[in-house]
Order: sequence, then structure tokens, then C-alpha cells
Amino acid sequence: MGQPQFSVFGIPVHVSMWHFITLMIFFRGAFQADNLMFGVAILLVASASVFLHEMGHALTSRHFGLQPTVVLTGFGGFTAHQPARTLRDDFLVVAAGPTMNFAIAAVLYGLLLAGAVGVETPVGRLMQFASGLNIYWGVYNLLPILPLDGGHLLRVLLRRFIRKSLKADRWTHRIGLGLGGLLAAYFASEGQIIWAVLLGLAAFENYRALQDVNRMDADFRADRPHPRVGELLKQARAAFEAGNFEAAMRFCHQARAEPELSPAEMRHTWHILAIAAARVGDLDDAIRFAERVPNSTEMAQVQATCLLSLGDAGRIRQFLRAPAATLLAPERLDELKAVVRSAEAP
Ligand SMILES: [Zn+2]
Repeated sequence: MGQPQFSVFGIPVHVSMWHFITLMIFFRGAFQADNLMFGVAILLVASASVFLHEMGHALTSRHFGLQPTVVLTGFGGFTAHQPARTLRDDFLVVAAGPTMNFAIAAVLYGLLLAGAVGVETPVGRLMQFASGLNIYWGVYNLLPILPLDGGHLLRVLLRRFIRKSLKADRWTHRIGLGLGGLLAAYFASEGQIIWAVLLGLAAFENYRALQDVNRMDADFRADRPHPRVGELLKQARAAFEAGNFEAAMRFCHQARAEPELSPAEMRHTWHILAIAAARVGDLDDAIRFAERVPNSTEMAQVQATCLLSLGDAGRIRQFLRAPAATLLAPERLDELKAVVRSAEAP
């Protein structure tokens, strides 16, 4: 990921200039000619709230040995790390972000209530703003709409309780699409255009992901003229849905070796292989497999996620020029570009 700007507790941190530009647009009301310091203080408090949220993810993922990197980018930040080994680890890593915001708000409120800082002093007012903002950021991130934390938590919970990952993913994306669309419409009607656009984009991303899941499911259900290939893919699917990714990959490699594999079956085999490889942390393999399935948003996502985890700016730059990159959501592209930019920064 190029040279990080700095590291905190040994966790590398990249900061994109878009991080500050978008925060300035958000809090433009706080910048007044007679009191510029107030605007700067608001900006720093907002940036710190986003940063500490990401540190919640980063410290928890480091605890599980997942080698996190924090990136502060436009409209917030994200923490790239290797895939969690269990659903429980995944849940804890994701939940730690909003939890951090609520903990900060509680501490600040506690200090104000205890009278440690006067409520009407400038510091007191800044602390009130900071605690409100942290609650806001925590709640916003908990909306059950991918790619927000709440969407990830919803998917983990559904995978845990439905135990069929395709079905769980389909419901996650349906809820993301429905709720994201409703909220986007609501914010648009309130004239809150930035929120309307952000939530609208999230809804659209869920719509495309839903199409991918449906296509994958159709491939599974398609009539199979070759019983041997069909049987292998059925076993691969069962293993995949049971979370036994290594076994799923074994069945896929066997299917791949069959001579009468149809193009749809081949595509399907690469699809399972890519996701399974990403889940077990074979990132290079996952990218290689995902590249074999063109025109799939989900496969482009797999490539993007793996490349972010690998943090190789050169390969990301190459990927951004490939047709697959055009399938990614704008936020994902921004994340990738942020990595390239921070590698190019002196
Ligand atoms: Zn988060």
C-alpha cells in the first residue's frame, strides 16, 4: 500500500486529502471568517472520531492476527485486513468500530456531567459536539446497509442463523437495497443531497450484488448434461455453504479437470474458487480465480478486497485500468485510488 503516512500502535495509517476535503464540505457551516479556529477544531474532532472508529476495527482485527491497515478517505475511512477466520471474529471486528464511537461519547458525556469541564466553556462546547457526532457516526454506521458496518453485521448474523451463505447474502442485499433506497428518497425529499447520494449509491451497489447472487444461483440450478460435473459442483456448493471452504475448493479443482465442462459450469467453478480462496486468505489465488469471471461485480469486489488487503499499489494501479474496475462502486474505487495516491505521495 506504499508508505503509510504514520502508524499508531504499530498499525499503518494512510490519509487521503479527500478525507479533509469532504469533511470541510460537510462542516462548511462551522467555518466563519471571525472564528476560523472553531472550524479547524470541528474538523479535527470529526476526523478524530472517524479515525478512532477505524482504530476500533484495526485493534480488534490485529488481536485476531489479521494485519490491519487504516485508510482515512473521502466520506470517512475503512480498515483493510485479512479475512477473519470465523463468523464470530468477523462480527467482533466489525462491531468494534461503532462500539468505539459510543464509548467515546459516554466518556465525554460523563466528564461533562461530572462537571470536570464547564458546559459553557469553548472546550465544553467542543466536547458536546464531539459526543453528539460520535453517537451519530456510530448509529449511521450501524444502518444494516452494505457496505456500512451494520450491513456486514447483518450478513454475519444471517450466515450464522440461516446457514446457507447464498440465501443469507441475498437477504442482506435485499435489505440493503430496500432500506438504502427508502432512506435515499427520504433524505432527497429533505434536501439532504449528500446523504441521499451516499445512501443511493449503497442501494445501487446492493442491487448489483443481488443480481450477482441470483446469477450464481441460476448457474447452480441449471440442468447439467454431465452428471459427474454436476455432482462435483453440488458437493462444492454444499461444502461452501457449510463454511468448509477448503473442501469446496477441492471439489472445484476436480470439476475443473473434467473434460466436458460447459462454459457456464467453468464460470461457476471459478466463482466458487475465488470466494473460497479469499475466505481462507489465499489472496493471490483468489484474485487469479476472480479474473477468470469477467463482467461479474462480485468477482470485481473480490479482486478489490484482496488487492486492498495485499496493499500492493502497483497491482492496484494495474487493476484500475482493467475492465473489471468499471463494475465497482464509486466508494470502492475511491478506496483503491486512495491507496495508489498515498503510494505516489512523496
Ligand atoms: Zn466501521
